Amino acid sequence: DPGRPKKVLILMSDTGGGHRASAEAIKATFELEFGAEYDVAVVDLWQDHTPWPFNQVPKTYSFMVKHETLWKLAYHTTTPRFIHQSQMAATSTFIAREVAKGLLKYQPDVIVSVHPLMQHVPIRVLRARGLLNKIPFTTVITDLSTCHPTWFHRSVTMCFCPTKDVEQRALKAGLKPSQIRVHGLPIRPGFGKPTKPKGELRQDLGMNEDLPAVLLMGGGEGMGPVESTARALLDELYDKTTEKPIGQLVVICGRNKKLVKTLKSLDWKCPVQIQGFVTNMVDWMAACDCVISKAGPGTIAEAMIRGLPMVLSSFIAGQEVGNVSFVVENGAGKYCDKPKEIARSVAEWFGPKAAELQRMAENAKKLGRPDAVFKIVHDIAKLARHKLNVQNTQKLVYT
Ligand code: UDP
Repeated sequence: DPGRPKKVLILMSDTGGGHRASAEAIKATFELEFGAEYDVAVVDLWQDHTPWPFNQVPKTYSFMVKHETLWKLAYHTTTPRFIHQSQMAATSTFIAREVAKGLLKYQPDVIVSVHPLMQHVPIRVLRARGLLNKIPFTTVITDLSTCHPTWFHRSVTMCFCPTKDVEQRALKAGLKPSQIRVHGLPIRPGFGKPTKPKGELRQDLGMNEDLPAVLLMGGGEGMGPVESTARALLDELYDKTTEKPIGQLVVICGRNKKLVKTLKSLDWKCPVQIQGFVTNMVDWMAACDCVISKAGPGTIAEAMIRGLPMVLSSFIAGQEVGNVSFVVENGAGKYCDKPKEIARSVAEWFGPKAAELQRMAENAKKLGRPDAVFKIVHDIAKLARHKLNVQNTQKLVYT
């Protein structure tokens, strides 16, 4: 039925690293651009469609990334191609059936993977059922630089790389230039729109209207040294001689409820806003002047769009290392893992080093790609329409 909505299946797994945020950004942009013409399903294939113990992968991940040594071990032992390929082959025998059920239930016109572990098994399943040439398979990479090799699969129809650096890695992994697009990291479409003036936003958000503002966060889970950095800022953003604050602080703790409680119990000497998980990051970023965060790709890409210099305070070993050098080498921020020094840098940005803040803000803004998600969505939509043309002549049977 050519009148039916085209179906887009987004495969993700909620393991941090901006996968969920990217999936949601793509879905929201499809709705914005095409309305009911496209039906987009976001599926955590690992969690919803695999039997125990495989459905525990996201939970294991949350545990492991918080215990760095374990995570490093897992990340680096799976990096060499010969290891991950045989591991994937073994895993795929176990879970192929469940994955197939998941894929076929949605009968997609195009598949979009936003996760490093969602290439090998689904592609194997599609190939086994003779569907690989009929359903376009695309990967949207969510690491800005150092990618795990499982992101790359030579049989994809299209691989969306966020940066030139990732494109080089894709080419090295054997993908052809015709399979690669470099549009940027997909960020919620709201980031592509102009915001209200800063003063008005600050009023709406209950912030001080005049003092420079730093946004402190640690990804969706509120990870990294957020509490100790907040404590250090508490000192540095207060001028003891004039007895006046020199800046204000917004802390977004994400899903870390304990952190919200601890920070609310502190005695603040500068204006502060302490938030749990917020859905209006667009506004908070537009109301602030710089960001302190772990090196999550989503947060970095959003801060660049808003032209906010960054102090990166931590990174997840493996995939987030390259995000740090990306920001530092492009002059959009610095790396520092010592709370006292982080706080001092920010205080200097709000005082004698205002020119450095300004320069970094310009560099950050230049790297921002607010239109990336729109370009990615239009390319994917085109592939889905192409698939329908194929279907007109070759009737597809999903069994
Ligand atoms: N985020 C949000 N609300 C919050 C905390 C975080 O919307 O309260 C968003 C943030 O804007 C970003 C994503 O969650 O888009 C975090 O992605 P990132 O890649 O930085 O880190 P992750 O938590 O996925 O490792």
